[in-house]
Amino acid sequence: MRNGDELHIAALPGDGIGVEVMNACLAVLDALARRSGLFSLRVERLAAGAGHFRDTGCALPDETVEAAKKADAILFGAMGLPDVRTEDGTEIQPQLDLRVMLDLYAGVRPIRAMPGGPTTLADPRARGIDLVIVREQTEGLFSDVGRARVENDTAVDRMVITRRGAERVTDFAFALAKDRKRDGRRGHVTCVDKANVLASTAFFRKIFLERAARHQDIESACMYVDAASLNLVRAPWEFDVLVTENMFGDILSDLCAGLVGGMGLAPSGDIGDEYCLFQPCHGSAPDIAGRDLANPTAMLLSAVLMLDWLAKRRGLDPLRDAAALLDGAICEGYAAGHIRPAEFGGPDGTRAVANKVIELIRNA
Ligand code: ATP
Repeated sequence: MRNGDELHIAALPGDGIGVEVMNACLAVLDALARRSGLFSLRVERLAAGAGHFRDTGCALPDETVEAAKKADAILFGAMGLPDVRTEDGTEIQPQLDLRVMLDLYAGVRPIRAMPGGPTTLADPRARGIDLVIVREQTEGLFSDVGRARVENDTAVDRMVITRRGAERVTDFAFALAKDRKRDGRRGHVTCVDKANVLASTAFFRKIFLERAARHQDIESACMYVDAASLNLVRAPWEFDVLVTENMFGDILSDLCAGLVGGMGLAPSGDIGDEYCLFQPCHGSAPDIAGRDLANPTAMLLSAVLMLDWLAKRRGLDPLRDAAALLDGAICEGYAAGHIRPAEFGGPDGTRAVANKVIELIRNA
């Protein structure tokens, strides 16, 4: 909101259900701005993705990146199509390039049981799942994406951990735990690594412990990634904030999305010191694309994260209430059984979920 009360969003819908959930989200944000009366929206739709690569030979045009940098925040749908691949067989995924280009080093993935929403675990404590995975996003096991060495009979992807990379993501996780503690959460950070086997992640743990010593008001622990996978299924309600390298974070966030019902409920924020991007954790889901079946809730919750982040970190106060209003409408819709997405066997397609959230916002 560099221009008074106008929130400038760069929207990159991308491919598959990315386009559908983005349309739903922009309709909801429009209703939210009208209801709040405290800000207006300026949305700039920008081209990028696997489909764009197929049509033009370029997945992420320079104009898109330059325009996105000028916005208050970037909203991102999903990118990638199974039949659009690079020569090494991997999918075209410009979101990975964007994270590096914009230095979006902290992937914030909140996992929260939706009131009245589906639960995967039978234990009633699963209703209290409320954790955040902070995934390092500029190095780790994704460091060689797009430039891995494949020679003769050997393929090599390096795990790269730098002091700077580990320090800043660890500090981010502790700052987040402090924020959450102020809101009544536990104030605890778990470092997830494989320090007993991989020197790279032993180094990550060493730096985590150095930084933890500077945050005595926040409890901390270290856990191997295999044990963390077990404990996240056995007792996810015991975790608060987890911090880990890129690939471990990628896998654990899908596992945790499964604990609260599915990909359609898992939002994320990609945060750097200068730019921020918000997107659902799910991909373009070609199996259900174009059929109004995608659950847009993860995209809507990503918009909540965006509003909340801009309010807290950039001092854009009008957005604080808007974030609470949108989050409240989504939670109320689920809790009252008003929102019943097709993803969980209900009758509501993408547009129906969005329309119900809009109705709840208007009546709030
Ligand atoms: P990627 O591998 O790039 O992460 P993907 O689209 O292949 O992406 P996921 O996003 O992990 O895979 O989704 C796995 C499956 O979960 C999809 O194929 C789809 O059936 C389902 N799914 C994902 N997102 C949603 C959603 N928003 N609503 C309903 N179902 C979804």
